[in-house]
Amino acid sequence: MRKIISVANRLPVTVGRSITKSSGGLVSALDGVAGQFDINWVGWPGTSFKNSQRAKDVEKRLIEDYNCSPVFLSKKEVSAFYEGFSNGSLWPLLHYMSQYVDHDERWWDEYQKVNIYFADKVMETAKKQDLIWVHDYHLMLVPRLLRKRRPDLRIGFFLHTPFPSYEVFRCHPHRSELLEGLLGADLVGFHTFGYMRHFRSSVMRLLNLESQMSNIKYQNRNVHMGVYPIGANSGAFIKELSTDRFEKQKDIFKDTFLNKKIILSVERLDYTKGIARRLEAIDKFLDGCSYKENVCFVFVAIPSRGEIAQYQQLREQVEGLVGRINGKHATLNNTPIKFIHQSVDFTQLCALYSIADVAMITPLIDGMNLVAKEYVACKKDKPGVLMLSEFAGAAGELFKAVKVNPYDIDEMAEKLSYCLNMPLKEQLSRMKGMYERVVEYDAKYWAKTFLGDLEKYSGNKPIQATQTVNSLSLVKNKFASAKKIACFIDYDGTLREFVDDPKMASPTKQIISLLKQLQKCSRVDTYIISGRKAENLSEWFGDYNFTLVGEHGYRYRQAGTDQWKLLADSFDTSWKKQVIEVFNQYAGTTPGSFVEEKISAVVWHYRRSDPEFGKLKAQQLISSLSEMMTNMPVEVHHGKKIVEVTSMQVNKGVALMKLTRGKKYDVILCAGDDQTDESMFRIENDKLLKIKVGKGDTFADLRVASPAKFISMLSTAIKSIK
Ligand code: UDP
Repeated sequence: MRKIISVANRLPVTVGRSITKSSGGLVSALDGVAGQFDINWVGWPGTSFKNSQRAKDVEKRLIEDYNCSPVFLSKKEVSAFYEGFSNGSLWPLLHYMSQYVDHDERWWDEYQKVNIYFADKVMETAKKQDLIWVHDYHLMLVPRLLRKRRPDLRIGFFLHTPFPSYEVFRCHPHRSELLEGLLGADLVGFHTFGYMRHFRSSVMRLLNLESQMSNIKYQNRNVHMGVYPIGANSGAFIKELSTDRFEKQKDIFKDTFLNKKIILSVERLDYTKGIARRLEAIDKFLDGCSYKENVCFVFVAIPSRGEIAQYQQLREQVEGLVGRINGKHATLNNTPIKFIHQSVDFTQLCALYSIADVAMITPLIDGMNLVAKEYVACKKDKPGVLMLSEFAGAAGELFKAVKVNPYDIDEMAEKLSYCLNMPLKEQLSRMKGMYERVVEYDAKYWAKTFLGDLEKYSGNKPIQATQTVNSLSLVKNKFASAKKIACFIDYDGTLREFVDDPKMASPTKQIISLLKQLQKCSRVDTYIISGRKAENLSEWFGDYNFTLVGEHGYRYRQAGTDQWKLLADSFDTSWKKQVIEVFNQYAGTTPGSFVEEKISAVVWHYRRSDPEFGKLKAQQLISSLSEMMTNMPVEVHHGKKIVEVTSMQVNKGVALMKLTRGKKYDVILCAGDDQTDESMFRIENDKLLKIKVGKGDTFADLRVASPAKFISMLSTAIKSIK
């Protein structure tokens, strides 16, 4: 049976004098796949142990009886990793609460260290075929740590919180490391498409990576992204509703709240939940309410993160507001707000959901909000109204809820009246649609779909790895038996890594050393073949005995001369004026982009523009060009952050053919990285040795991953020529 290792901050157990299994959402979700997989857990057991013998005993029991591998943390580590970095820095950032974001470099050190502990623990047992599922913002570095040590592992990551807009995420001092941490996974999951879109956009902007709609190319791998809205453990709620203890509890509550309308809120006491604003809306509602003796607002506020200052302040604020509102609206027969700063047991929770006329769930932001789904799960064929913040992830699924903007206090007060007075028929019909959804797409469904996709997307071979393997030995063999060799080498992206400003891409030490080697080797004729202008090539390569070919094969300078000549005697350039006009329009409306005119080509560069906007504009530009170019002797290509229109009468392939005509080369190596080089790769000739540098579709026979690898390969191959 295949193993799952679920890696989350907390183990699903409570360790006190004895050990008890807890029944969190994750446990019930994975219970749904228990028949198919052997489920194992890695996490913090929730207590620190001073006594190492006791820790060893606990560890043994956890492993043997609960399939749990504990990561032990000291009090100091918990404070910096969990309370500090995770909940004081990341949690508010991921929830757009920049005003609460705190940062301390020491927290970051501990966060990194603890993430390493978690990765170490996974490594102790992980095997190649296991599915490793890492959860949430506490462990964002774990996927990368695992990938570095074991590239073959199948790793998934799910973020249980929102992922904020790039504008917010970019503020974090360790934003790039956090993103790269996640990119170690094969699959990164989110609750909503919006969160996924934000993540993708942050990756593109901050790491400068290319991305399709649902995958990102990173270090020769495909990282997939997906949307998996977590469901409630509906089955457990439905089952509880049929027990005697539930009926008893419900009767007790009915007596307590006799003849009153119950409006229920259940949440952790957290500043994201919008409790203070909700209380203000209740105050406003009660101001104009003629039946305030008959309403009761029940707040179940689960204690949460009490060690953190902001949470202590929130508690004081909320308790102050509850006191003020109750003082203002209480009568001898009724105190309108019943505020419980405690957890309730499962039966009580079900009874509360079941008797509540309205569930008032108004977070300022919430990754999903399970309480909304649980309320619905307890309402089969029963009346009840769900008032739901449009900022909860669940709002994207529960279409029949009464949606509110939690920042608009007047609207919430008005909608409260609307909910309380909703006709029975409407309540039932709204609830029916939501109930069916909540029951079908439950926690188990969520785990099944995520794990199914993880199986599908992981265990991938690196992108096109097979072609890269033997390029060196092949080139060496060909060179060894050749009397005369030609090397046609492109520059940008082939010898030199891309930089933002093309003028700054002068040859590096490594390139110069390769060029000197080529210069010394009498059996090799070197051709630098580039899209760059003649002057630029003369400046960088004029002192070598190379033939220089500029502007994609339009002009050339024979080795040993300093005269530039035309390779194509005459060709039509009348199209350029019209193309430049269109390019200029796009340059004007796309900040950071610019137009470059060459003799045989016009190029629109957008590498300094916003990556998503630049790509969108490039696509628009290509479609407007295709309409106007039908009768022009040109080709368009979408290269790396450029759109280029070139004359069909001039290209690198044509140049290569002309320059090798009549020469007795045994091998003609040509190397390039982008579309303009494909014109060389398309030539059918046994003597050609075609090498593509980097990723992308190609007609070349061989591939090397990067300019650095190409330089080293060519240098080794030349050394082997006697
Ligand atoms: N819950 C609980 N104790 C209680 C009341 C509720 O543990 O006394 C549970 C509730 O059933 C729900 C979870 O707490 O499953 C809250 O999840 P939600 O997604 O609404 O918010 P989160 O706490 O994850 O921000």
